Amino acid sequence: MEVALVTVGDELLAGDTVNTNAAWLGRRLADRGASVERVVVVPDSVGEIAREVNELRAAYDAVIVTGGLGPTHDDMTMEAVAAAVGVSVEEHPDAVEWIADNTDYSRADLVEGTTHLPAGSRLLPNEAGVAPGCAVENVYVLPGVPDEMEAMFERIEDEFAGAYRHVAVVEADEPESALVERLATLRDRFDVTVGSYPGDHVRVKLQSTDEAELDAAAAWLRERVETPQR
Ligand code: ATP
Ligand code: MG
Repeated sequence: MEVALVTVGDELLAGDTVNTNAAWLGRRLADRGASVERVVVVPDSVGEIAREVNELRAAYDAVIVTGGLGPTHDDMTMEAVAAAVGVSVEEHPDAVEWIADNTDYSRADLVEGTTHLPAGSRLLPNEAGVAPGCAVENVYVLPGVPDEMEAMFERIEDEFAGAYRHVAVVEADEPESALVERLATLRDRFDVTVGSYPGDHVRVKLQSTDEAELDAAAAWLRERVETPQR
């Protein structure tokens, strides 16, 4: 299953907030065997959010949007997602009922618009906050606040699946450029994906759905690189 992430917020673009939601979702989806193919950061703009969601939902199996829920002036995500799927935003009866039954907020306390979701969407209750999320077609809308986002993702994570990919890391104490031919041979010989990440040493990350194939590839490479002295 191929997934795209759209993280919403001017503060992410400005560098005031680190995009931990993308990192957390990327890891959790990979653990489930779903692969994140795109991460996009967009400003608090209905047009920009709608354009990205529209393109990505056509290209990938699912899109997860985080941030910009709730009824404050800079929260535009619901309106944008509704526009992307071609429906209006309206008061969602399940959201009204869930907040009445599960929070201390009375309807009169809630800021106008808190319970407004794209028409026909499925409510995703916010167990750690108030502003609800939703799922509409293949788009999932989650909060920006990390605790709230994580709790909501855990309610729906079973909907994201794929074959589990085993991972092995081989460290090489050589310049990355020196490894090019060996990594090309590795790719030819074995059914694994290969990523190389330079740092103090080069970390070569191998992945495969077939554990025996992965072990064979990692052993082949370990025999052919200088391993770092510990
Ligand atoms: P609220 O209902 O409280 O308005 P929200 O879902 O509208 O929440 P935002 O207003 O976008 O979310 O952001 C709320 C908080 O979460 C902010 O402090 C913001 O910096 C943080 N946040 C938003 N997006 C991310 C992200 N991608 N990674 C980490 N933190 C984030
Ligand atoms: Mg907000």
